Amino acid sequence: MSASHFPTARQPKAAVSRAHPSSEPSRPERAIPPTPGIALVGLPFPPSTDPSALGPALSLGDAKASRDSDGGTDTGGDGHPEVARVSQTRRDALTGRWAIFAPGRNSRPAEIGDSALPRQAGHSCPFCGGHEQYTPAPSLVVREPNVPREQWSVRVVPNLYPAVSQDHPVSEAGPLLDEPAEGVAPSEAIFSDEEADHNLFQVTELHGGHEVVIETPNHLESLTDLSQQHAGRVFQAYAARMRYWYDVPGVEYVVTFKNVGAAAGASLRHTHSQVIATSLLPPSVSEIGQRVENHFRRCADCLLCATLLGELEDGRRVVLESKRFVAYCPFASRMPYLVRIAPRHHSDRFETSSAADLEELAGLVQGVLHSLEATFAPCAYNYTIHTRPRNVASPASFHWWMELFPRLTKVAGFEWSSDCFINPVPPELAATHLRREQRGRTKRTVSRKSAEFSD
Ligand SMILES: [Zn+2]
Ligand SMILES: [Zn+2]
Repeated sequence: MSASHFPTARQPKAAVSRAHPSSEPSRPERAIPPTPGIALVGLPFPPSTDPSALGPALSLGDAKASRDSDGGTDTGGDGHPEVARVSQTRRDALTGRWAIFAPGRNSRPAEIGDSALPRQAGHSCPFCGGHEQYTPAPSLVVREPNVPREQWSVRVVPNLYPAVSQDHPVSEAGPLLDEPAEGVAPSEAIFSDEEADHNLFQVTELHGGHEVVIETPNHLESLTDLSQQHAGRVFQAYAARMRYWYDVPGVEYVVTFKNVGAAAGASLRHTHSQVIATSLLPPSVSEIGQRVENHFRRCADCLLCATLLGELEDGRRVVLESKRFVAYCPFASRMPYLVRIAPRHHSDRFETSSAADLEELAGLVQGVLHSLEATFAPCAYNYTIHTRPRNVASPASFHWWMELFPRLTKVAGFEWSSDCFINPVPPELAATHLRREQRGRTKRTVSRKSAEFSD
């Protein structure tokens, strides 16, 4: 077991132990590591012989159904056992979009349906401190200095219901690239239009990793329940895992995200986030990279730097500022109360941020969440971190950002048909509401079923 430290500006350093031996940084020859004891959907869960120990939402029956479903109807329904154990991506020849088929994902507790999440007490929650045996061996553990070994602050573990297979190594790849590769991105090479002319049913295995960031051993439901220092540790854990996965050959895309509430796709209440690393680059990410690169070549300017400057000069859509970050409702927000957060100064990769920056960012995110939670209670939301994939754009043209959006509206027929979203709340109004909550932090609830959001 090795140990290292997260440097921080304001607090004593936190000890970070890497239970997984392949979590050492900067080993470009690494491939996807085998995770001890982890099969794709075959992990005995819970290890306890008493299924009632985890409550009805996490029964042994669910785990058995998951194992029994290998190669069965839970795999996407194509009836081919040979493809059922590995996540795969299929490309729709007409739209060019992907669909990911993840075996075992269907067995997640409390996932399917539109109901509210079950309220778990600490004694029935697999993420609570003392229940470490109910999750796989961690890939990262963050501890404060001089605390007993069993007292952790943040734990990162492989997801028991991965969207991306982690049981096979990804392709052998060359050294990491600091500059974008020549020509098309790897995913586009695999799913090229030319190939689609001859193969209308393109499919490829999808590899990488899918991890859960358990943000605290205490049974808390919001990032805002944590101190800013602790939330900063969570963001440092994000950065550490993103650095790790981008060092794994064959991984083209890594995203960190958070789902809160059933409407946002969460399956458990205990505050947590997720990291997904994939061997394929989503076309939308590739397109953004191309757009910022084209802007840079035309204007010798970073597109997000320029946009951020414009938002600051206008001011109407700015929600919250700190020394190094700005939160604002973008000019063309696709969803009501969507908030974008970006560093003031150009930076292409979130995961290279300093510990002090990440703690400051965590405080800003908590501030925005306080406003959203005060405005919409309960508040289902997602946030995502967009960092530069190593083969996308140039460091000078790509500027990392976060997006945070409450789930207030449904994606309906027009959005599905056109990919053009109807937003009932202008971003200027949303920013005004959120600023007001920042000032007053007075609790008020706006019904999500109000006429404002009805269709
Ligand atoms: Zn818990
Ligand atoms: Zn920039």
